[in-house]
Amino acid sequence: MLPNAKKWKKKLLKSENKAHKRLSEIEAIYNSAPMGLCVLDCDLRYLRINKSMAEMNGFSPQEHIGKSIHEMVPDLSQQGEAIAKEIFQTGKAVSMEMNGTTAAQDGAVRTWIEGWYPIKDSSHQIVGINVAALEITDIKRANEALKKSEEKLRLTIEGAGVIMWFWNIENDRVECRGHYKHILGPGPIPDMGYNELLSFVHPDDLEKVETAFQKTLQYGEDFKVETRTIWKDKSVHWFSIMGRVVYDLQGKPQEMIGIALDITNNKIVQLELQETLRKLKRSNAELEQFAYVASHDLQEPLRMITSFLQLLKLRYENQLDSDANEFIHFAIDGATRMQEMINDLLTYSRIDRKRGDFKEVKIEDILQQITFEYKLLIQEKNAVIHFGELPVITADYTQMVQLFQNLISNSIKYNDQPCPTIHITAEKQDNDWIFKVADNGIGIDPQQGDRIFKIFQRLHSPDEYEGTGIGLAIVKRIVERHGGRIWYDSQPGKGSNFYFNIPGRLNHEI
Ligand code: ADP
Repeated sequence: MLPNAKKWKKKLLKSENKAHKRLSEIEAIYNSAPMGLCVLDCDLRYLRINKSMAEMNGFSPQEHIGKSIHEMVPDLSQQGEAIAKEIFQTGKAVSMEMNGTTAAQDGAVRTWIEGWYPIKDSSHQIVGINVAALEITDIKRANEALKKSEEKLRLTIEGAGVIMWFWNIENDRVECRGHYKHILGPGPIPDMGYNELLSFVHPDDLEKVETAFQKTLQYGEDFKVETRTIWKDKSVHWFSIMGRVVYDLQGKPQEMIGIALDITNNKIVQLELQETLRKLKRSNAELEQFAYVASHDLQEPLRMITSFLQLLKLRYENQLDSDANEFIHFAIDGATRMQEMINDLLTYSRIDRKRGDFKEVKIEDILQQITFEYKLLIQEKNAVIHFGELPVITADYTQMVQLFQNLISNSIKYNDQPCPTIHITAEKQDNDWIFKVADNGIGIDPQQGDRIFKIFQRLHSPDEYEGTGIGLAIVKRIVERHGGRIWYDSQPGKGSNFYFNIPGRLNHEI
């Protein structure tokens, strides 16, 4: 052998080894690539397939070799055949999305993005096809879900008449979505920045809106403002605008996003309501003042009438005939009744005039005091008042005494039983105390409804039962002053239950 030939042989062996090594490397990359790869012959039979593609199809790589796509992936074979036909006609690569099932993944419909490339021989004849496939089922599903939720959001925003706004702080551009066309007018969205956005704000509200913006940008507070806006057609509308800053990774304000809601109708109603409330308060105050002054000022002349009538009776009772005596008696009776009514009216109009005076009140103490004060009446009527453990509530002491006095005296008064019995209990519901005053008296016809709580409304004449008809109106007013409500249920002839609640953030446990 020539010395040179030895050298050449060595060189050839080295390059053969190198090529072999290269080939094994390519083979390894081919087989372990996460992307599905295969080579098909012109009859669409597998000549080669990597692990990823074989797994996608649900068989081992060996099971594919020599078999056609019709046998291995029947659900995808028609789409494959159409691509192959195009490749054979045009000689060009085709890439497209393919959907279908394979023997893997329980036959679930999946999506791939595939590239089919013709393999040509030296005479440019197509001898096979290289296929690369990447599964995008999850990406596609996520995209579809995103699209659906974006569509839902869009419909919600449009349906709710809301405008969504995005202000890119860096490049000072504002983007609007949703119900903005009413304000900006028809046509494409104008290119707006912060200043153009503010140009829609009513000049009287500008300072308020700008301050809110600055506070949000400086301190990261949520942006929340109610403002009037002036639309393109010059009409004025109220808007509630809310927003929040989005920061970049370095903590720099990047964008402000939010919504704007047309609250014009609500605002009109709200303003009307405020005005009505103001008028109502004023007329209520005037009425209260009138009732107070009238009853206060009427007391004096009435007292005079009563005393002179009594004087008349005392001096001339025996000098007049029986008719005149009866007339004097009626006049005294009427005047006394009127005095009682005026006193009650005064008490009634004083309830809301009282300020403050709310402190801890032990209801048991109040009932003990009343039982003591009504000792004679209780004995006379043979009545029994039962009460157990009752709560301490935050209330006006004097008014609570008044309230229980009125309810208890009614329970004794409107009672024909040999032993009038009254039960007073309280039950806690959430934060409220619900009190119950139950008696075994004559009862109330439920058809009377709330009439009994109205001022001077009575269900009986003074001959049957004494009274002016203001007791329950006073009770109702006291309960309402304490933020509660009063109601009753009753069975005529069997008794009545009066209930009222005293709401109590400040109330105490038993
Ligand atoms: P008055 O007792 O002075 O008539 P109230 O306002 O206290 O006025 O009561 C209004 C009416 O409600 C009474 O006339 C009476 O008919 C009825 N009433 C009140 N409490 C009771 C009760 N416990 N049982 C039956 N009827 C009652």
